[in-house]
Amino acid sequence: RGRQAAARAHRPAVTADGVAIAVAANVGSLADARAAADNGADLAGLVRTEFLFLDRDAAPGPDEQVATYLELAEALGGRRLTLRTLDVGGDKPLRYAPAAHEQNPFLGVRGLRHSLAHPALFADQLLAIARVARETPVSVMFPMVSSVAEVVAARRMLDDAVAKAGPAEDLRVGIMIEVPAAALKAAAFTPYVDFVSVGTNDLTQYTLAAERGNAALTADGLDPAVLQLVGLVCARAGVPVAVCGELAADEAAVRLLTALGVRELSVAPPAVPLVKDAVRATHMNLTGSLAQRATGLADAAAVRALLKSVSLAG
Ligand code: PEP
Ligand code: MG
Repeated sequence: RGRQAAARAHRPAVTADGVAIAVAANVGSLADARAAADNGADLAGLVRTEFLFLDRDAAPGPDEQVATYLELAEALGGRRLTLRTLDVGGDKPLRYAPAAHEQNPFLGVRGLRHSLAHPALFADQLLAIARVARETPVSVMFPMVSSVAEVVAARRMLDDAVAKAGPAEDLRVGIMIEVPAAALKAAAFTPYVDFVSVGTNDLTQYTLAAERGNAALTADGLDPAVLQLVGLVCARAGVPVAVCGELAADEAAVRLLTALGVRELSVAPPAVPLVKDAVRATHMNLTGSLAQRATGLADAAAVRALLKSVSLAG
């Protein structure tokens, strides 16, 4: 099955009833970018730029960042790069951006909060991104957003970077929806974004109050509470909605997410061919009511059982 999927991997993914779904790759290294192109990803839907910032004594300057981002773009054969701004803080501290000790790092100065607290570091990254956007298709995406004010502040800094770098024709701006408050307020972000991307890893953690990576807890992104939030985002965001958490690579989840209105799935590079096939096996007009039923169930196990019973029925 894997080999057959690979043969089709470089073709677009369209559902059985004709809805095009972009299948993108999550990229955290140059090797990932190469793997994304080899596996037929339509774009890089999430570039985890942390790989360039962690484990060093000084931040990469704008020139080094530009060089690295252009290398990624080249490895991707010119496909769109969705550059997520630095997503560190709390559990992922930087030696050159010291942070106060936090009792609950996942609820602390993380993601966009960290960038806004370190404006010089953030300005350098935005300048690099604005310069790269003049050369190749780029989207910029802010992580761990919880309020509109943060996005307004970030966009203002991005405007300054674009003024310095010179205008880029097709620089798109988006946010990650990883915090339940951001999902519930999705409509309030509409004036400030071109797209949103749901990070189901963190959205699941925050919705279920279950720390990701804690082996004593089992948090499943197919929990009806998470699905309800994804559905709300699709209904209210007013802009295209992507999903870039692990859930997007879960074949059982693909038809639910697309039925809820998700139009881009961004997954680990090796998962791209199978996710494209899962999209092709989806009949949107059959899955709409399935998604409605799933969001009303008690837990993820019940959702998985429902999906299984439907797939057994054909
Ligand atoms: C997520 O939270 O779902 C996500 C894609 O971001 P990360 O896994 O890098 O936190
Ligand atoms: Mg995240």
